[in-house]
Amino acid sequence: MKNILLLGATGSIGTQVLDIIRNNDKYCLKAFSFGNNIEKAKIIIQEFHPKLVCAMHSNHIEILKQLFPNVNYCLGDIGLQKIASFDEKNTIVVNALVGAVGLIPTIVAIENGKDVLLANKETLVIGGKIVIQLAKAKNVQIIPIDSEHSAIYQLLHGVDKKDIKRLYITASGGALRDKDREELKEVTKKEALHHPNWKMGDKITIDCATMINKGFELIEACYLFDLDIDNVVPILHRESIIHSMVEFQDGSVFAQMATSDMHLPIQYALEYPRHLANQNLGELDLIKIGSLHFEKVSFERYPLVKCAIDAYKKGKLQCTILNAANEAAVQLFLKDKIKFFEIEKIIFEALENPQYQGFNEGDVNVTKIMSLHQLVYNEIYYKYC
Ligand code: MN
Repeated sequence: MKNILLLGATGSIGTQVLDIIRNNDKYCLKAFSFGNNIEKAKIIIQEFHPKLVCAMHSNHIEILKQLFPNVNYCLGDIGLQKIASFDEKNTIVVNALVGAVGLIPTIVAIENGKDVLLANKETLVIGGKIVIQLAKAKNVQIIPIDSEHSAIYQLLHGVDKKDIKRLYITASGGALRDKDREELKEVTKKEALHHPNWKMGDKITIDCATMINKGFELIEACYLFDLDIDNVVPILHRESIIHSMVEFQDGSVFAQMATSDMHLPIQYALEYPRHLANQNLGELDLIKIGSLHFEKVSFERYPLVKCAIDAYKKGKLQCTILNAANEAAVQLFLKDKIKFFEIEKIIFEALENPQYQGFNEGDVNVTKIMSLHQLVYNEIYYKYC
């Protein structure tokens, strides 16, 4: 029996995690958190009977207490930490939160000796060094749920790290891949939210359209697989059938292929290193797909990919500034406060801001990461709102 503590249960990944749990009786949902969707939260409680539920709004707790008085409740950021440290045997934490809010619950889970199945990419972007070091010290596993990192995790099982020459992280190019930079000026929210291959939450869909998501994924791969960023190469692959590749020293290139469906990386993370059947998983029809295409990722077309690589190379808190500026800019875009191409501009300005650069003096710790993150986010958000 595996007891699951699910952070972000009502989002796109959270919902698919519940699909996998539903169809396998060795999993039990012990605790979960949700953000705004109380209707979905009610349905989850009814179906899975968790012991502890975390809400982000106190009025939601009042409503749920009336309906389900036998459940325990907790609130906000502290509540997320309570979920991540829930005391029960054989627990694993699935972190499907969106944004920097995912970092501290991940750290709390590791400190409590729990393995973390990680879909929250901002955790590694802003706190990768700390998280990986702590996981090693506590001897817990961080298993990625992102399709690209899951692909590499699958490919590297049983491999000697010295044999790896480079990783190829595939990129669909996002919703706006067929537009040139001039055309980006006129892009609407609806266009940017229409991903050609994946159905996901709004924030990550915009991150795919700007391709900062791919930059984040290169950074994550460096932390997860302990590689130099120059050996982690993005490659455009329109079909999203190959989810990433490993090139070995002898020139052999291994690719992991599957349909574009997050149920597979979720189940692999739960069942690692097994590849088991589950009725949620689809079949890949290669004849129907016919051909696969590859192109170079142009840094002129997608400057945020280069920007993320440079931020990672600069180190310190540069990726925190990058992520905070992006979170604020994407929120502003989703609220129709800025235009699509302004997302880039806001991020570039933040990375140059001398006030934020001041934080790069001295050591990096979690408190410093989170306070700088909040500062950058708030300053940008309220400037345009
Ligand atoms: Mn991905």
